[in-house]
Amino acid sequence: MRISFFGGTREVTGSNFLIESAGKLILFDCGLFQGSKSSEERNYSPFPYDASKIDFVIVCHAHLDHTGRLPKLAREGFRGKIFATAPTKELAELVLDDSEKLMEEKAERENVQPLYEKGDIERILELFETISYDETVEVSPGIKLTLKNAGHILGSAFAVLEADGICLTYTSDLGNVPSLLLNPPEHITSADYIICESTYGGRIHEDVAKRKTKLAEIINNTTRQNGVLMIPSFAIERTQELLHDIEDFCSIEGCEKPTFYLDSPLAQKATALFSKYPEYLSSTIRKSHRDNNFFGLERIHLTNTVEESKQIELAPNPKVIIAGSGMMNGGRILHHLLNFAEDGKNSILIVGYQAQGTLGRRIFEGHREVKIYGKKVVVNAQVKSIGSYSAHADMPQLIDWLSYSKNVKRIFLTHGEVDQQLTLAGKIKLELGKQVIIPQMGEYHDLY
Ligand SMILES: [Zn+2]
Repeated sequence: MRISFFGGTREVTGSNFLIESAGKLILFDCGLFQGSKSSEERNYSPFPYDASKIDFVIVCHAHLDHTGRLPKLAREGFRGKIFATAPTKELAELVLDDSEKLMEEKAERENVQPLYEKGDIERILELFETISYDETVEVSPGIKLTLKNAGHILGSAFAVLEADGICLTYTSDLGNVPSLLLNPPEHITSADYIICESTYGGRIHEDVAKRKTKLAEIINNTTRQNGVLMIPSFAIERTQELLHDIEDFCSIEGCEKPTFYLDSPLAQKATALFSKYPEYLSSTIRKSHRDNNFFGLERIHLTNTVEESKQIELAPNPKVIIAGSGMMNGGRILHHLLNFAEDGKNSILIVGYQAQGTLGRRIFEGHREVKIYGKKVVVNAQVKSIGSYSAHADMPQLIDWLSYSKNVKRIFLTHGEVDQQLTLAGKIKLELGKQVIIPQMGEYHDLY
């Protein structure tokens, strides 16, 4: 078996790994490079393999950095099968449609070719074959695949591939524990090799229990100052966790003020899927919400059209606006930042990972002067963050998860920036005594 690393190497985005085994070519994820302009331009480079020769793609979850180049794969001739869970397929459709719209707008603005078109998304969706957690399928003679709950987002999985007498496990992204909405990641004890994410490989998350107190403080502060709280949020998982915490906040502290807006059609559609697939949610939340109304949406103003979104500017303060994109590199949050970031009584609450090169990263790092749509904006708004909203396991959680695989021969670290990877690699060697490799783009390894 040979594994080649073609994305998500020494960086967080663009996950894409090629497995050659039993005469077949298999991809783990096919994600978009995100972040800086030069990073995004790499999406236009040809794949380092012939897309038409790929037999299978295993898509572990729907985030764009794991699915975003699938339509390009179809455009370049891929006609094989895609294995994923049912919620991953549906969420991927939402995420890809949204991304296509943003690309079309950008292409028009900057007079460039979009990466793919609607037809490519339709083509890719036809190739999905959905499987459930823990269902083992023989994708081809001698190649077995099992998807197991990764606890990261709705329908997220880690993949266990058995072929050539080797058990290769790919974590894709592992969830942060405890999650309000999802069961914790399952464990695997039989892996020979593991490709492991390392987004927060060098960090320890804030205590999840303090999160609600912190959120309540920030909302109450907005109310006191009669300001605007902007929460750039990823449409899947993060938004639903926020909504759930806001529901709790409202039931404890009252909801007369401020007004809450969910200004993201994508997040609204994703939220509906949580009710459609309750079997993928944690047993705790299912028990406490037997009616499948997990998010108290009746309290939230859901804005769909651009016109409705614009009206938020005129609505009286205080108000809380949840809008995409999560890293502020597009979407409606940019308009809200243009309107509200210069006022010191307003706040920006960062609840997710901010990739290098994104506007979100610059604001998070304290840059006071930023450019939005070519316009200079002075950020006087207070910038706050709550780390425990992360959907990724931190260092102790990754070490714990890896420790179940007692006989693993080698661990490949992907999906992380180098400083995080080096810290995690050191910790793995020290605590687990295992061999660690931090592959570079294009590197390959033969596994025996
Ligand atoms: Zn992810």
